[in-house]
Amino acid sequence: MDTDVVIVGAGPNGLMLANELRLAGVRPTVLEALPGRATLPKANGLVGRVVQALHYRGLHEAVTGSPAPPQPAPFFQFGALPLEMATLDDNALFILPVPQRRLEEVLENHAGVPVRRGHQVKDLTRHEDHVTLDVSGPDGGYELTARYVVGADGGHSVVRKRAGIGFPGITDDGFTHRTGQVVIHEPVADHSTGQLDIPGMGVLWPGTFHRTEHGVFAFGMFQPGIYRIAMIEWGRSGLTDTDEMPLDELREAAKRVLGIDLPMSEPCNGQPAALNRRAEGTNSRLADRYREGRVLLVGDAAHVHSGVGGPGLNLGLQDAINLGWKLAAQINGWAPPGLLDTYNSERRPVGRRVITHSRAQTALLAEGPNTTALREVLTELLQDDTAVRRISDLMSGADTVYDMGSSTHLLTGRWMPDLPLTGNTTFAHLARTGRPLLLDFADRADVRRAAAPWTDRVDIHTTTTPAAPADAVLVRPDGYVAWAGGHLGELAESLRRWFGDPRDLPQG
Ligand SMILES: Cc1cc2nc3c(=O)[nH]c(=O)nc-3n(C[C@H](O)[C@H](O)[C@H](O)COP(=O)(O)OP(=O)(O)OC[C@H]3O[C@@H](n4cnc5c(N)ncnc54)[C@H](O)[C@@H]3O)c2cc1C
Repeated sequence: MDTDVVIVGAGPNGLMLANELRLAGVRPTVLEALPGRATLPKANGLVGRVVQALHYRGLHEAVTGSPAPPQPAPFFQFGALPLEMATLDDNALFILPVPQRRLEEVLENHAGVPVRRGHQVKDLTRHEDHVTLDVSGPDGGYELTARYVVGADGGHSVVRKRAGIGFPGITDDGFTHRTGQVVIHEPVADHSTGQLDIPGMGVLWPGTFHRTEHGVFAFGMFQPGIYRIAMIEWGRSGLTDTDEMPLDELREAAKRVLGIDLPMSEPCNGQPAALNRRAEGTNSRLADRYREGRVLLVGDAAHVHSGVGGPGLNLGLQDAINLGWKLAAQINGWAPPGLLDTYNSERRPVGRRVITHSRAQTALLAEGPNTTALREVLTELLQDDTAVRRISDLMSGADTVYDMGSSTHLLTGRWMPDLPLTGNTTFAHLARTGRPLLLDFADRADVRRAAAPWTDRVDIHTTTTPAAPADAVLVRPDGYVAWAGGHLGELAESLRRWFGDPRDLPQG
């Protein structure tokens, strides 16, 4: 066998998985078809629980350069309707502005795993105890064998196709989407704030979507004066997709959608204008399973959907965090039966939920008086904090609750909050190791004794926190609570369920 795990694709999700495997002591081989990192702009930032998940690995600090923990956003949008969250006592809609290219750099440096660039997987063959990949590299073709292969190779995933995993869903071709990275000139643009003052619409904030009588306009400013803008127009145009759209086409679309001549030009600082038109449809698709034997899928290889609300990396990076420790447990030989299958049973429903809310948001952006009426009704509902909380939890993924078996405490199955802990530290700092953690908040010797046979896999910390949620809490490496409370029988069951058989301890 050449290697334990091959990750196909060094996009953000493949690199995140490489990080998680490394933390758990497994060194994957990462294959990337492109000879260098992609230069065309993609994601501008992360939205939702994933920002805190990165904080739990020290990666938030690596991106921002500051140890300050992420703060929830006071304002966001759902289908271009305002979501005012300042009055919620907490929310998980964290926002981390970061260009995808920069995120990939941070993840690659952190993982410390060399990426084999210019190595494209052409085919795969599944066997009982391994997978064989046919790879085309800079020096020609070769075969690579691995115990497990993870397809992190994007929406057109060769791994998914060759493993025979279906990708059912829809292609929505009812609109034309044009985007570009352009300079928008003053006085319409305020380069100090990024705001645009559009006659007839008023002052618009960057990072927001706007539905007009003729389409949808979205924009953000990521360097002073340089904007990423998107124009969506309804109806089938009969046009094809292109990455070589003239700037005039974007200008004309802006005129139709906004009713003004938006003063724009291509950037002259070497940044690509990245002008493109997407008219052949947006896919909403979910792999019919995330695992086929020794082949697994993460990120866009497993799900694609509309980008409204920026849910892609909230979903994909947390797939990688969910999969990493389970796959490492399998390689390291202590995974309990069925552990690897919980990757599919836990993450696929989350993918389905993202497809649901991104479709709902697309519907809210559609044309016509019926949509306008629906938007009015929803705007009224969103005056109510309970409704805002539901939508915010849906978009952030805070409503994700996993089945953890018999433990009955309310925290079980939910995200572990970043509690302050004795010694001027926080849960986020302990979580950086990526190891399972048992937090003993009540100095319970019986709890520590019950967990002693797992201390080769689980770290025990006796600590305190103001208003502890339970006597003790067992947290999985992906940040979800496996058990909470004080019931020792439940604790042993949970330890066995997630971290395998206890080891024999010397007597006495
Ligand atoms: C314009 C745009 C804006 C976006 N904005 C946001 C946003 O603001 N927030 C957000 O969360 N998401 C956003 N997204 C979505 C986000 O970019 C994707 O969800 C993300 O790129 C998926 O990462 P991935 O690692 O799964 O796949 P990808 O990024 O697609 O990476 C897959 C990698 O696999 C490689 N590969 C493919 N086939 C092979 C093969 N056969 N062999 C070897 N390597 C292969 C590819 O070259 C690529 O590098 C945006 C997307 C676009 C296009």
